[in-house]
Amino acid sequence: AAPPSDSPTIFDKIIKKEIPSAVVFEDDKVLAFRDISPQAPTHILIIPKVKDGLSGLSKAEERHCEILGRLLYTAKLVAKQEGLEDGFRIVINDGPSGCQSVYHLHIHLLGGRQMNWPPG
Ligand code: 5GP
Repeated sequence: AAPPSDSPTIFDKIIKKEIPSAVVFEDDKVLAFRDISPQAPTHILIIPKVKDGLSGLSKAEERHCEILGRLLYTAKLVAKQEGLEDGFRIVINDGPSGCQSVYHLHIHLLGGRQMNWPPG
C-alpha cells in the first residue's frame, strides 16, 4: 500500500541539497534533475519543491492545479533544453500498481531513444 501522503522521501533531501543530484532546471517552485537509474539516454525527474500532500497524482486537489501545470510546462522546457526535438515521453507512475517507488509527485521525462507503445 502507498505510505501516508505527508511522509518524507529522498526527494526532500535532494531539494535541500543534502544529497547530491544532477540538476538540469530549477526555479522557486520546481526542480528537475537526472534520474539515478536512467531508463533512456535522457531521463529526468521534475518535482514540486513543496509537496503539499502531493505524494502522487492520485492525491491531487483543486489547489494543486497551478503546480501541476507548471510541472508539465517545465517538462516541455527541459525537453527542449535536452535537444529532444524528435520527441519524448512523460510518465507519472501512481501507487503500487503503477510501480510508484517515491511518494513525492514526479514527472519522468524520457528521451533520446525510440519509445515503444503500448508500454509494459
Ligand atoms: P517512481 O518509480 O516512483 O515513478 O520513480 C522514482 C524514480 O526516482 C526512479 O526512477 C529512481 O531511479 C529515482 N530515484 C530514486 N532515488 C533517487 C536518488 O537518490 N537520486 C536520483 N537522482 N533519482 C532517484
